[in-house]
Amino acid sequence: MKLINEMELNFKALSINEGFARSCVAAFCVQSNPSLDEITDIKTAVSEAVTNCVVHAYPGLPGNVCIKVKLYEDEVEIEVIDNGIGIEDFEKAKEPFYTTKKDEERSGMGFAVMESFMDSLELKQNENKGLIVKMQKFFKKQNMPAVGE
Ligand code: ATP
Ligand code: MG
Repeated sequence: MKLINEMELNFKALSINEGFARSCVAAFCVQSNPSLDEITDIKTAVSEAVTNCVVHAYPGLPGNVCIKVKLYEDEVEIEVIDNGIGIEDFEKAKEPFYTTKKDEERSGMGFAVMESFMDSLELKQNENKGLIVKMQKFFKKQNMPAVGE
C-alpha cells in the first residue's frame, strides 16, 4: 500500500466551514481516481464528523477542528480531530438514535452514517482533550488513468 499524498486542514468549528471542509477533502481524494459514489460517501462522512465538532465538541466558544488525510493508491484514511469535551462512552455514542441533544432535533445518526458510508470507523480520545474520529475508505479499481498519469 503506497502513500501517495497527505495533508492537514485546520479551521474553526463553525457550521459555515462544513461545506468547505468536505469539498476540500473530496477534491484532495480525486488524485486516487475514486468513483463519484465513493466521493459522495466521503463527503457525507466528513460532513457528519465536522458537524459533530461544531454541535457537540465546544459548548462555549468554538475551538478548532483539524482534518488529517492520508491518501494511498486504493484507500484514504481521514482523521477529524477536536480539542473539545470528548466522549466518555464510545460504544454508546455510536449506537443509532443515541443523542445528547434530542431537544435540538438531533437524530443520533451521525456515527451510524459514518460507519455505513465508510469501510471503518474508530473513535479515540485525543491526547489532551477531545475526540479523534478515524475513518477509512477503500477505492474500487476504475478503468481510467489517475490524475497526473
Ligand atoms: P445527528 O448526527 O443525527 O444530528 P448526533 O450528532 O447527536 O445527531 P451522532 O453524530 O451519532 O448523533 O453523535 C452521538 C453523540 O455523540 C452526540 O449526541 C454527542 O453526545 C456525542 N458526540 C459526537 N461527536 C462529538 C464530539 N466531537 N465531541 C463531543 N461529543 C460528541
Ligand atoms: Mg452528529
